[in-house]
Amino acid sequence: MAKSANTEKENQAFKILKRLRQVSEDQSEISVRLNTIMSVIAEEMGYDGVSCFVLLEENILELFATSGYNAAACHKVTVRIGEGLVGTVAKNCRPLVLSEAKKHPKYISKDNFKEEDYQSFIGVPLIRRHKAIGVLMAECKEERDYSRKEQETLETLAMFIADIVSSEEMQAYKAELIKSRGLMTKDKIKGLSLSKGYGLGQAVLHHRRHVVTKIFAEDKDKELDRLTLAHQQMNDDLDEKFNSTKLGLGEHTDILDAYLMFAKDKGWFQKIADNVMSGLTAEAAVERAYEDMWNRLSATQDDYLKERLHDLRDVSERLLSYLSGDYVENSKIVEESTDIIIVAQSMGPAELMDYDHTKIRGLLLEEGTPTMHVAIVAKALNIPVVAKIKGLYEEIKSGELIALDGNEGIVYLHPSEETQKKFLAKRAERKQLQEKLAALKNLPSQTLDGIRIGHYINVGMNFDLDYIDSANCDGIGLYRTEIPFMSSSAMPNVEKQIGFYKELMDKAGYRKVIFRSLDVGSDKLLPYWAGLHEENPAIGWRSIRITLDRRAILRKQIRAFIEAAAGKELNVMFPMISNLAEFEESKETLLIEYEKIKRSGDKLPAKINVGLMIEVPSVVYQLDEILEQADFVSVGTNDLAQFFFACDRGNPRLSERYDVLSAPFLRMMKEIVNKANQHKVYCSVCGEMASVPIEAFALIGLGYRNLSSSGSAYGRVKSMIRSIRVSEIEDYMNLLLHSKNKTLRPQLMAYAYDHGVEIY
Ligand code: PEP
Ligand code: MG
Repeated sequence: MAKSANTEKENQAFKILKRLRQVSEDQSEISVRLNTIMSVIAEEMGYDGVSCFVLLEENILELFATSGYNAAACHKVTVRIGEGLVGTVAKNCRPLVLSEAKKHPKYISKDNFKEEDYQSFIGVPLIRRHKAIGVLMAECKEERDYSRKEQETLETLAMFIADIVSSEEMQAYKAELIKSRGLMTKDKIKGLSLSKGYGLGQAVLHHRRHVVTKIFAEDKDKELDRLTLAHQQMNDDLDEKFNSTKLGLGEHTDILDAYLMFAKDKGWFQKIADNVMSGLTAEAAVERAYEDMWNRLSATQDDYLKERLHDLRDVSERLLSYLSGDYVENSKIVEESTDIIIVAQSMGPAELMDYDHTKIRGLLLEEGTPTMHVAIVAKALNIPVVAKIKGLYEEIKSGELIALDGNEGIVYLHPSEETQKKFLAKRAERKQLQEKLAALKNLPSQTLDGIRIGHYINVGMNFDLDYIDSANCDGIGLYRTEIPFMSSSAMPNVEKQIGFYKELMDKAGYRKVIFRSLDVGSDKLLPYWAGLHEENPAIGWRSIRITLDRRAILRKQIRAFIEAAAGKELNVMFPMISNLAEFEESKETLLIEYEKIKRSGDKLPAKINVGLMIEVPSVVYQLDEILEQADFVSVGTNDLAQFFFACDRGNPRLSERYDVLSAPFLRMMKEIVNKANQHKVYCSVCGEMASVPIEAFALIGLGYRNLSSSGSAYGRVKSMIRSIRVSEIEDYMNLLLHSKNKTLRPQLMAYAYDHGVEIY
């Protein structure tokens, strides 16, 4: 029976979709096609009226197409998110089915839309990026009991319409509409929010990738003068920086050494000058000089010489930026301004740290995904980030004023006085929220029904250490040891490492600290290791795979951990473990170093716990055996999700395609925590899920009792914890795990909203 009902449902949806596809291939204008689509749905489903509302401005839904109603109401009727029935569907991001619409407390009538003529209502959201981008609604003049089957059919149709609404053609149509009304111009651009907050400041273009477009010079002498001047300016600046200890934009002293070596090299300058005299522009001449050198050195096996090629690339880029005027401009802005917004095509995490982070009010990226490391670092610094805005880099000029809304993912170029005021007010509001959260400092991360959650922070950058006190956390659930490696100019030796680790342990005091062994590779590259250029770096030679193959690196790091933790508890965790054997091999390496230190008579840690990160799905299927050997586990949901969904965490095209808040992923998460509990092994989550309140909420519902959040998200997660009752959410989560929906985010958000869960 069930099977045939299903088939019938699929057939109906299939039949309508087939007709809708034909309509959408029609050559008519998109607005006409959308109206026809409404008519087809009304006819096929037997509704008196069908309409489509589309999110046009922040918070405002507008009637875009209709059948059965007053067609003149199109583009005239608008509702706010949360207003009326349509606004409620969008706000909760879930369907609303009412056999007697007028009895619903949110029912309103819109004069020219004649909602009052209709008795029953069904509305489903059009969803993209887990948010409602519109609403498809239908009404009947009679009271009507809409069946579950009908609702599902409408949801399928809504997916089809959501595709149309987010198509490029529709974007262009909307842009025209908006422009014609003067609501939004090309100065108001929508991107993807990666870190919340509001920023106002002057643009600093991060490393323009110089593309030399003009090859031949009209006047050789003038060109030589330009080159000489830029070269001189660059050298003067380098001397000044080198002589003062103050480091400028993007430099470390060792790197300056390398710059200086090339910058002052007469042979290099002469080569460029010769190229200019042969008729090239100064820019083309710099490129030619680099290419010559590259041709000579790239085939060499000598790592030192290869490294020098990187330096030469850097110094050539620098000279190019002096020639274009960008470098001088940027340095001036960074120096003189107190508020800067960094604009980059893409960026590594260490590069962000090249800037004085106390001045950074925002980061704009042309590319970007939520779990990319620069986004994690920016979040840790409370810097709002908006990403995925193509062409932005070309659009923005150094020094111009930008306002950035990290909550909605909107960027305002040339913000008006009014927008600036609005931003300053929003910033003040956010500050108030931060103060409210800071006031929770001395209260425990405990639920309303008295369950204490072990609540830790993730540490990588130095500034993260400040959160130990300001968050008053239970400890450090993840210390990303690769970060100090990434910001050093050479591989730190054992003594240097002991220094880093001791400093951390001293700061942590009595609190627990979990050290993760070096997790490099993929998007975490060490500046002193030449890139490997693998086809698939995320699933390539990285993390524990590197350190087990280059065992000396791992041994030295373990030695440093043991020495730094003398007399204290030491927790060491290995990343990217794919099977039991790999964990055993890593643990064995630790034990050998331990024995060596013991023999040398040095003071040992009081206790050592050895654990692993669960971030490769294969270990989930060997958990029983692994948990027999592990003292603790921590789930790295960033990598686990990327491998689980076969979805590169750094690929912006995929970032909206899968959701950790979906039944398959949550079922696996539940399996992990259940197994750990059976084996009585400490289990935590240290991936980004533990830093996003709604996701952390789901984790607690699954049974997780230890979370390691980023320092900047700590207060928001604590506030969520303090507003929930575990006994209530556990049942709800169990129910959701059977859902067939692509994402459970809307349901969880709606639940949180209905139950007063604090999600900031
Ligand atoms: C993870 O993968 O979830 C994790 C915490 O590690 P990282 O983000 O440093 O790869
Ligand atoms: Mg990871």
